[in-house]
Amino acid sequence: VADVQEIIRAANRFAVPLWPISRGENLGYGGARSFRDASLILDLSRLNRIIEVNVPDAFCLVEPGVSFLQMFDYLERHDLPLWLSVPGYGAGSIIGNALERGVSSSPYGDHAAQICGLELILGDGELVRTGMGAMPHSGMWQRQQATIGPRYDEIFLQSNYGVVTKMGLWLMRAPEASAAIEIEIAERDSLGAVIECLAALKRLGVIQDSPAIASYLTSAALCSAKSDWMTGKGALDQNAETLLLRTLGLGWWNVKVRLYGLPDMVSLCLRQVEQELARLPGCSFHISRWQKGAPISSAHRGVPSIDGAGNVRWLGENGAHIDFSVAIPVSGAEALKHARWMIRELAACGLDYHSAFYLRDRHILNVVQLIFDQADEEMCQTVDVLYRRLINDVAMRGYGINRSPLDYRADVAATFSFGGNAIGNLAQRLKRALDPGSILSPGKDGLS
Ligand code: ADP
Repeated sequence: VADVQEIIRAANRFAVPLWPISRGENLGYGGARSFRDASLILDLSRLNRIIEVNVPDAFCLVEPGVSFLQMFDYLERHDLPLWLSVPGYGAGSIIGNALERGVSSSPYGDHAAQICGLELILGDGELVRTGMGAMPHSGMWQRQQATIGPRYDEIFLQSNYGVVTKMGLWLMRAPEASAAIEIEIAERDSLGAVIECLAALKRLGVIQDSPAIASYLTSAALCSAKSDWMTGKGALDQNAETLLLRTLGLGWWNVKVRLYGLPDMVSLCLRQVEQELARLPGCSFHISRWQKGAPISSAHRGVPSIDGAGNVRWLGENGAHIDFSVAIPVSGAEALKHARWMIRELAACGLDYHSAFYLRDRHILNVVQLIFDQADEEMCQTVDVLYRRLINDVAMRGYGINRSPLDYRADVAATFSFGGNAIGNLAQRLKRALDPGSILSPGKDGLS
């Protein structure tokens, strides 16, 4: 930490901007690169200690280089009854992912909300601990999020005010029992009905997860390439879609709902879910159960993996993706309208619809991966123009993008324009105060 402080002070002396990364695996949103080529990458991946894991209070304290794979391995090796919420790509860091508001469908899948206490270095080199970490010799740092005054953790998320050197994060306690219901929905236009059904179960507290309702390409792109189904340019056509769905035995939408608790609680919730699903047209499902004592490999916990990144091979060796992540209301009708609109927009540009709707308590997060061929310059141009248009179109409908690739973050920030861009002005004032030399990640979100 003292070394990082020294580097930041030196960067100030020589006016050299730094771009901190934890493991640099922020795939789809920028990866290990800076917004401006002039920045030096401050690679923190070798700060990779798991400083503490506390079982009774279910939290950990980690350094930036700790990946989901490393933490999972640690919990396994020490046989600890804690479950990790894992995002799509397990080689990324816990800190980088939480700072950029990464998600999973676990009950702990809103990773930013699990942060409890940061240690960070401001742009001028001052070392700060947030929350109870600000009290010398307190044992409460990872146990209590709010103290007196503002909760400062939040301003260091997706911002460029500080370099985080330690983070506390809450983990899920292993339940006594779990179950999974793997659901296939045959028709594209049944999306609204599925959402209404699962949202009702969520409101009742039957489902604690934020289940991802994923389009068939989310699975198909992991085990096949577009060229297996269709030749020629353009979005996947109807014949290819029918052939793919039949051959791979997928629904148009596929969902995995998990349940956790005591065995009787899980049984009760399972009955309720089965009953509701039976009413859905074109819906089939498969159930599996686990109980403490049975092999842990059959439990319904998140297991980090790097396989998810293989879906870009949908377009061959030069496949790449940028992700479009937007929050919409918990409404079946609105979700279907949004899906139809995105499918149309993407198809007009020759792109396929790799999409997942994460059902949260008060909104749905829709993440669409725009998979393109990075060797095809025309396609890159098309994706760039499309992405900028999509940002403005969703803003016109009053929906906010919550995460975007570096090149588009200033465009997204500009859509939050109430009061003559008052929020942008506030962000800029904070930047001046916390990083007066503008050393840290200049240009991120249009803040320099
Ligand atoms: P991951 O490896 O977890 O996928 P990255 O290391 O690529 O994530 O980080 C994603 C982004 O988050 C970076 O570009 C940077 O803006 C921010 N970030 C990551 N780690 C830190 C950190 N320790 N301090 C400040 N910002 C960070």
